[in-house]
Amino acid sequence: MTKGGQAPFCHERPDHMTEECAVFGVYAPGEDVARLTYFGLYALQHRGQESAGIAVGDGKTVTAVKNLGLVSQVFEETDLAALPGEVAIGHTRYSTTGQSTKWENTQPHMSSIGRQLIALAHNGNLINTADLRDDLRAHHMHLQSTTDSEAIAALIGEITQRTNHIRQAVAETMARVRGAYAVVLITEMALYAFRDPLGVRPLCLGELSDGRGWVVASETCALDIIGARFVREVEPGECIKISADGVETFLSDPDPGRRRAFCMFEYVYFARPDSIMSDLSLYEARYRMGETLASEYPVEADAVMGVPDSGTPAAIGYAHASGIPFVEGLAKNRYVGRTFIQPSQLQRQLGIRLKLNPMRFAIEGKRLVVVDDSIVRGNTTRALVQMLREMGAREVHMRISSPPVAWPCFFGIDTDTRDQLIGAHKSVEQIRAHIGADSLGYLSQAGMVAATGLPASNFCLACFDGRYPLDVSDKLAAEAAAHPGAGTAQLEV
Ligand code: AMP
Repeated sequence: MTKGGQAPFCHERPDHMTEECAVFGVYAPGEDVARLTYFGLYALQHRGQESAGIAVGDGKTVTAVKNLGLVSQVFEETDLAALPGEVAIGHTRYSTTGQSTKWENTQPHMSSIGRQLIALAHNGNLINTADLRDDLRAHHMHLQSTTDSEAIAALIGEITQRTNHIRQAVAETMARVRGAYAVVLITEMALYAFRDPLGVRPLCLGELSDGRGWVVASETCALDIIGARFVREVEPGECIKISADGVETFLSDPDPGRRRAFCMFEYVYFARPDSIMSDLSLYEARYRMGETLASEYPVEADAVMGVPDSGTPAAIGYAHASGIPFVEGLAKNRYVGRTFIQPSQLQRQLGIRLKLNPMRFAIEGKRLVVVDDSIVRGNTTRALVQMLREMGAREVHMRISSPPVAWPCFFGIDTDTRDQLIGAHKSVEQIRAHIGADSLGYLSQAGMVAATGLPASNFCLACFDGRYPLDVSDKLAAEAAAHPGAGTAQLEV
């Protein structure tokens, strides 16, 4: 049973839509699982602002409420009260293509196994969705959305129906899908969580106090909000089942020594600074990136300021290492979403001024170091530098706590096509001239990786160096054909 938005219908879209999302799951009989999920999603709102959904299993069936909008807009008290149960999952979603604001693409996706239902939510992006969808159609499966996530749900539903074993269905599905996935799934009485063997997207396991139940979430900040204790990360290639029998790993990577490819952009930009990944707080990683940036690109200046919020920890690290005082020079309107996340270019351009307002006291007559986490298209940064000059800044030295983004992401962060990425086509000096800064310095890739304390082989760094952890040559070729002059990547398969 699904509630929210208009009735589903079928329409076709290409499979290259990429998206970043959050997933959450809780198994806690006797607790208000829908409300716990609601709060978990609140903490994960930064990972997706386009739609939100909760599905609950009550021992007999699975019910979902989902719609376009923020968590606070989608759910009312009456929705939560109408979702009693023992087990629940939730999802927030964003995608950056305008057309994708469709109810059908909201999650959790439901799939039927005979008269039973499962609900599934996914963070990541598959690279063989078109093949999967063709296979599913060949089995007369009716797909309502255009997402890879629905294909995963349908595949698990179809195999479970055939074999009567959900474990086998998850194992077969993991063997068939290629790409990035952190997935949570519920039946009417159990929660499953699994992660791709490269471990591209994060997923962690937590425990509610006094043995009241278990939680899985994209980031640890969602455990904190409901008072759950971090237990461990769901391992790459692992599938866990949480039920009345407790937590059980029923699939694990047969090759635990294999290369991993955790998304570096989670460290650079995406995840919340108060989350912890691989035992390191994101705040600390970003702070260290700023410290290293100061040693790689020092400059004489009067003040260091960050572009709030994602540039702030690195700016504080830069200020600390350089001895230049940190100032708050930009007031941020916190009620405006992430500018990139607004689907249309017009909204994006409006968003720059809507979101950030410079403060004269901190800026006028000053030589400024301005630290941000990344430059993707260069639009926001150019507008920002201009705004600071209009406010009387004497010099603007841009410092970026990651290397130039020069390659598209096919694994879940929509950093755009190559032709849109300023780092793909311009040298650092040309980018400096484009954004109008007095100087520009990007953190080196080695410096960025070193700030995490982990080896480079743990990460997917493809958006910086074009070395993809899976063969995406067909995707790059399609993009190169659509945008001639984009170049070819070094492939690491
Ligand atoms: P621009 O100068 O237009 O490339 O915008 C740079 C800003 O975009 C930086 O402040 C980044 O924090 C932010 N940003 C980078 N990647 C993303 C993303 N995938 N989604 C939303 N914002 C992003």
